[in-house]
Amino acid sequence: MYDILRGDYLEALRVGGTLIWYYYICKREVWLMAHNIVSDQDDPNIDIGRFMHENSYKRKKKEISIGGIKVDVLDKKDGYLMIGEIKKSSKFIESSKMQLAYYLLELKRNGLEGRGVLMFPQERKRETIELTDELIEELEGAEKDIMEICNRPYPPKPNKINMCKNCAYAEFCWS
Ligand code: SF4
Repeated sequence: MYDILRGDYLEALRVGGTLIWYYYICKREVWLMAHNIVSDQDDPNIDIGRFMHENSYKRKKKEISIGGIKVDVLDKKDGYLMIGEIKKSSKFIESSKMQLAYYLLELKRNGLEGRGVLMFPQERKRETIELTDELIEELEGAEKDIMEICNRPYPPKPNKINMCKNCAYAEFCWS
């Protein structure tokens, strides 16, 4: 068990796609998650943002693990990998885009070119993502900011946003 105030595990912290996703929603949640503050695991809302494995995508799917992340490879053509991320809803689409772009950046850091497709099966919607120089710059800034946030001894103050009503940390933040 890590000591929150000692913060020794932060040296080993990898900024993964999940923290990137939360970074664009709530920076306090980034801190809470990075410090293993456990929220209500029975809360049905806790899985917002996690993978949703739909049968309709299973036949094409192949998972690869690279640079500490696992991504679903949908296809390989013209020298690049097409990776996919399945989401429950497009409600947090901007965060989802940044998360997928971060996976593309991790691939690039490992010498692989990729393109991404976000899939929202319940809405029959797809969005493709390409890693641009602007996105790389944005993500590198986000990584630094996440490390800075996580190395603070205390979390950022709660900020009331729409996500709060569906957040498993709501009681912790607002009671
Ligand atoms: S309840 Fe609101 S402020 Fe607290 S972690 Fe969740 S989203 Fe962030």
